Amino acid sequence: STPGGPRSREEKIVVTVRLRPLNKREQLAKDQVAWDCIDDHTIVYKPPPQERSAQPASFSFDKVFGPASITEAVYEEGVKTVALSSLMGINATIFAYGQTSSGKTYTMRGITEKAVNDIYRHIMNTPERDFTIKISGLEIYNENVRDLLNSESGRNLKLLDDPEKGTVVEKLVEETANDDQHLRQLISICEAQRQVGETALNDNSSRSHQIIRLNFVDLAGSERASQTHADGARLREGCHINLSLMTLTTVIRKLSVGKRSGHIPYRDSKLTRILQHSLGGNARTAIICTLSPAMSHVEQSRNTLYFATRAK
Ligand code: ADP
Ligand code: MG
Repeated sequence: STPGGPRSREEKIVVTVRLRPLNKREQLAKDQVAWDCIDDHTIVYKPPPQERSAQPASFSFDKVFGPASITEAVYEEGVKTVALSSLMGINATIFAYGQTSSGKTYTMRGITEKAVNDIYRHIMNTPERDFTIKISGLEIYNENVRDLLNSESGRNLKLLDDPEKGTVVEKLVEETANDDQHLRQLISICEAQRQVGETALNDNSSRSHQIIRLNFVDLAGSERASQTHADGARLREGCHINLSLMTLTTVIRKLSVGKRSGHIPYRDSKLTRILQHSLGGNARTAIICTLSPAMSHVEQSRNTLYFATRAK
């Protein structure tokens, strides 16, 4: 490996895995638990007795959260430093990645709540600075950008290249939050608009006029990035492929490899275009990979763990 490579990589992208408990439906169907978190860093596959699997059985990460862990712990240990770095002029992005029903929205909701608390605590403790918190929310569905704070006319928004700000979403509503309660209210308006949500909090210091962005990204189900070959040459038939999600996985993989990765295809999808400046350059990223524990989902869970391994 190159000098300084792995180290700076670790600091830029923090990858954690969260295994949720079996849900009611899975319990009723007598689905078995396929995964075990044997310590804080390691998750292992527990094959049923008759199975002889040639697949890897053990995966290691910065941090692994088992079914009994609470969102508070996921925030404290996997997200907090990245979220608070946004107050120091660093572009911070927090993703939840995983198949549908693995716990992305559940985890992102709790984390957003904790980040809002922390941000306002920081503002209260820093009276010498003047903060302005702005929020916008958008959803990307089939490469259409929709404004979650403007349900009436905020559809099919265009992306524009601004010489100073980079890619901006044309006509995206930006609301200024008066206080933490107002911010929570705006967030719940975005949540009510549902599906994939992204919020950006802007901090405008009266001194520096620097715009600081904190992105919370609840991704589409990772089964929509499924492909038969790693190079993407042939896509699985009958599966609706999500271009933004597929491009994001390529971008994250290339960023995690570092400088030798060559061209990074930010411009291939709306999501990666919008997040380009939050991912490359002066940026920090936390990725929480969420897993269903069920044996019936073992293939998708393994795909998520492969993604998490490549993103490290
Ligand atoms: P996704 O957004 O990945 O499709 P959800 O966040 O909607 O999945 O989670 C699916 C279901 O599982 C929801 O009912 C949610 O409340 C529940 N769930 C997810 N993660 C956990 C967890 N860590 N602990 C308890 N319940 C969870
Ligand atoms: Mg969801």
